[in-house]
Amino acid sequence: MPVINRVADMQDQVAEWRRHLHENPELLYDVHNTSAFVADKLKSFGCDVVETGIGRTGVVAIIKGSQGEGPVLGFRADMDALPILETSGKPWASKTPGKAHSCGHDGHTAMLLGAAQYLAETRNFKGSIAVIFQPAEEGGAGALAMINDGMLDKFGISQVFGMHNEPHLPVGNFAIRKGSVMAAADTFEITINGRGSHAAQPHMSIDPVLAASHVVVALQSIVSRETDPLKSLVVTVASIHGGQASNVIPAFVKLAGTVRTLLPETRDFAEKRLREVATATATAHGATAEVTYHRGYPVTFNHDDETDFAVEIASKVAGPKAVNSGMAPHMGAEDFSYMLEKRPGAFIFIGNGDTAGLHNAAYDFNDEAIPFGVSYWVTLAETALAA
Ligand SMILES: [Zn+2]
Ligand SMILES: [Zn+2]
Repeated sequence: MPVINRVADMQDQVAEWRRHLHENPELLYDVHNTSAFVADKLKSFGCDVVETGIGRTGVVAIIKGSQGEGPVLGFRADMDALPILETSGKPWASKTPGKAHSCGHDGHTAMLLGAAQYLAETRNFKGSIAVIFQPAEEGGAGALAMINDGMLDKFGISQVFGMHNEPHLPVGNFAIRKGSVMAAADTFEITINGRGSHAAQPHMSIDPVLAASHVVVALQSIVSRETDPLKSLVVTVASIHGGQASNVIPAFVKLAGTVRTLLPETRDFAEKRLREVATATATAHGATAEVTYHRGYPVTFNHDDETDFAVEIASKVAGPKAVNSGMAPHMGAEDFSYMLEKRPGAFIFIGNGDTAGLHNAAYDFNDEAIPFGVSYWVTLAETALAA
């Protein structure tokens, strides 16, 4: 079964919603107009329950099947945009300078709305589908906010599925992998405290610039000498600030950066060693190091059975040759990871074709992907919950 006929007929409508959302981007939890638009549409489709204000501005709708009792599956889309000045030049480009749907969450939301409309019309399944529209994927952990509001338990959601568009993957293609598919993204700040002096009297100082330089170099050994090369780890010092003048040794230097990992044990190890190496290296130079380590989104971990099932569904929609079940993981992060920590599920990538990359000012979601995305959701519901 390729793209469903009724879904193909819906493409213009879904693209119109998508372009409306694209023109009107909102950031983080401040997605009031977007969530109102979503809730209005879900009510107009006749969903059995439409609840707003979950995780501040998230929306969940329940669509009951007509084929009897069964489990509740959660399908999730994200609604927020990015603080980017759009340069796509499209007629539906952002009307708000400095905000843009540069990650395609407009497309994710529109496709899940299309699926909700189809499923509410046909209801050819048992159990229920929960369509989940979350705020604040881009750094605000909106998924976690919805979980903390009790969403998964309240609606009895037993499995969760998510989807993200992928530039450079051809339209009509899907990609996924079992296990770690996206990285955990942590940040750190290190303040190296020394003692300032005249730059011509270094013996009177404890030079934090030299100590910080050694810390930057020493941190690289965590990846290169201490970590199994087959277990991915990124340690990047992305910022270094200290001193103002060429003739003054400053009193302190600040470093900041990110740690990306694909396994929980690598993450724990990296945090522990980052603290130890920074502190000991500073000490070796007579300075001290204050380390602040902030854990961001966890690893996005696809469960085996649900990933196999997602591959089966994508293959039905796109044909087996168009589904890569062993994609390389991304070192970017995704807050659907929080849902996958609570429930089994799978996160799949859908081809966006030859477009600008995600978070690029020229990016636009590709409306040609809509029938494939909507068909994936619909086929997943009707297959998983077949009577
Ligand atoms: Zn993004
Ligand atoms: Zn995204």
